[in-house]
Amino acid sequence: MKATVFHGPRNVRVESVPDAAISLPTDALVRITAAAICGSDLHVYHARTQAVPGFVLGHEGVGIVEEVGRGVSTLKRGQRVVVAGSVACGNCFYCRQGQVSQCEASGGAVFGYGPNFAGKLGDIGGAQSEALCVPMADYTCYPLPDAIDDEAAVFLADMLPTGFFGALNGDIRPGNTVAVFGCGPVGLCAVMAAGLFGTAEVIAVDTIPYRLELARKLGATPVNAPDAMELILGRTGGRGADVVIEAVGHESALHAAMAAVRPGGTVSAVGVFSEPSFNFPIGLAFIRDLTFRVGLANLRSNIPQLARLVESGRLDPRPIISHRLALDNAPHGYRIFDARTDNALKVLLKP
Ligand code: NAD
Ligand code: ZN
Ligand code: ZN
Repeated sequence: MKATVFHGPRNVRVESVPDAAISLPTDALVRITAAAICGSDLHVYHARTQAVPGFVLGHEGVGIVEEVGRGVSTLKRGQRVVVAGSVACGNCFYCRQGQVSQCEASGGAVFGYGPNFAGKLGDIGGAQSEALCVPMADYTCYPLPDAIDDEAAVFLADMLPTGFFGALNGDIRPGNTVAVFGCGPVGLCAVMAAGLFGTAEVIAVDTIPYRLELARKLGATPVNAPDAMELILGRTGGRGADVVIEAVGHESALHAAMAAVRPGGTVSAVGVFSEPSFNFPIGLAFIRDLTFRVGLANLRSNIPQLARLVESGRLDPRPIISHRLALDNAPHGYRIFDARTDNALKVLLKP
């Protein structure tokens, strides 16, 4: 089958790899109909996240179940599903409390990073390919209603649950002013998710005009990063935002987020921080009584409620899609998403 393979920094190629196939009774084979490129893939693409090359990329995929192992009880051949970006059993201590990113059975395995973030499962393949073998398929796959098309559904794999996780962790209250740092697909999903909690205003911060423009269309007040502090203070009586969601994954953005929140407020970081440590403004956090939340989003546990919101029309992530490319054009998709050229935002790949 064809798949998008990571060969090293800024080097991805679509090539033939061994066909995905079921190996355990709890696996399902999913024929991918839509996949997407994520900001997290860029960390690998930039070699910021050290990853041994030679693996199939992609953790955001939608497709049709082609075959199920004999231990799979809820899925049928021909069923359309979204595959959660990380594998979860649905039954362990962590899964039972919704903290599926810490699943004990999968070890938090994420698709699309080969052996690098494979938890307990080894290389589990990636979604930017023609097919994917999904472990613990009864829970990791989520059956889709007809009302949710592939393009909306692909956001359920990671983007919407991650934006929602950022908003949930922010403990947003009705009437709050929320600032979102970063208007990539994750930040834009956080803008949408924050609105679900009754925000008075969402301020969206980035430096890229076309991304800020989309944030505005999604109902946020856009601001160029260098002007963000002044605008946020101006909108909040000089106090700062009640909640700041960091959706960048860089030390500088985290520092800006910590500075932009009001005393007693919450900074919720969903950006991926690949370095083991960096300076954290603990003195500022102490003196200003801040709450700081960070973590890998719990993807599968939030899919059902987000799917209902998409199905009802309350959430529509499709405006975030900028490109629909054939799988063969994945390298071009990576180039434009990375370079922020061609107004690239969410790039979908259609095998
Ligand atoms: P992206 O690269 O498209 O978006 C990042 C955006 O941040 C860009 O638009 C960039 O211009 C902007 N930016 C950079 N520095 C900034 C600053 N100082 N202030 C404001 N904006 C700034 O990526 P994405 O797909 O939106 O992902 C965003 C982050 O979320 C990445 O770090 C990704 O790895 C992470 N992520 C985390 C999880 C999780 O489970 N926590 C899941 C998925 C993605
Ligand atoms: Zn992702
Ligand atoms: Zn589990």
